[in-house]
Amino acid sequence: MEQNILQNSKKIVIKIGSSTLTSEDGTIDRTFLENLAVQVKALMEMGKRVVIVSSGARIAGVGTLGKWSRKEDIHYKQALCAIGQVELMDSYRKVFHSHGIHVGQLLLTRGDFEDNARTMNIRNTLFTLLDESVLPVINENDTVSVEEIKIGDNDMLAAHTTVLWGADLLVILSDIEGIYNKNPNENRDAKLIHVIDDIEEMEKSISIGSKSSFGTGGIATKILAAKEVTQYGASLIVAKGKKENIILELLKGAEKGTVFISH
Ligand code: ADP
Repeated sequence: MEQNILQNSKKIVIKIGSSTLTSEDGTIDRTFLENLAVQVKALMEMGKRVVIVSSGARIAGVGTLGKWSRKEDIHYKQALCAIGQVELMDSYRKVFHSHGIHVGQLLLTRGDFEDNARTMNIRNTLFTLLDESVLPVINENDTVSVEEIKIGDNDMLAAHTTVLWGADLLVILSDIEGIYNKNPNENRDAKLIHVIDDIEEMEKSISIGSKSSFGTGGIATKILAAKEVTQYGASLIVAKGKKENIILELLKGAEKGTVFISH
């Protein structure tokens, strides 16, 4: 299933969760980024176009400063993101450049997706970057995103991006293999749901536990994101980001995740 969808997808958005991007100690996981670059390069060589939506600015900020990890004040959080975003993009730039790929940064807010002129500008920038084989890396613009105007979570930012760009597929790389019938971190007998055709039916039959410590949205926002992209006609795959070559393995049919199929 994953194999088929990935093979047939020309435009792919890949969303990287905070826990996938960082190591246990909270610093940026270079091994993961290296492996991501190898996979993105391989996808590009197959003629596919890739856009990345990356979390991790706040954690990278804590990793850089070595303090403020417990500050809940919004201005400190925004300050951490401002510091961490530079660190994050510096890591992307260095790692991808060593594979011959240039990266470009786009920082977006909810309002950007609600305004026709702005969405047109975003689309034009994306198309220009991609035409020139530059990899767009998108994150929420935390400096201006206070609670009321926030997209709130990068699963949703990635879903909006998928629709705005007209992508075929959104791949969410998470700290979990996919969606289970109950939280696998709390229930040993939890079962992975491989294919989801009817999201409303699936929601009735699963229980959603708490999210991981670094994650922001949890499974609920992945399901919301799936509703948005499948309604539009794209598919969504949730898979474990830290597995080596996960996207290429899915493409080979050697790994499984959870697939939400479009109608
Ligand atoms: P990320 O930011 O890496 O995408 P999140 O923390 O947002 O990760 O969401 C994944 C987490 O959601 C899992 O690590 C798991 O602890 C939790 N979770 C709760 N309920 C479920 C469920 N039914 N299936 C899978 N994961 C679940």
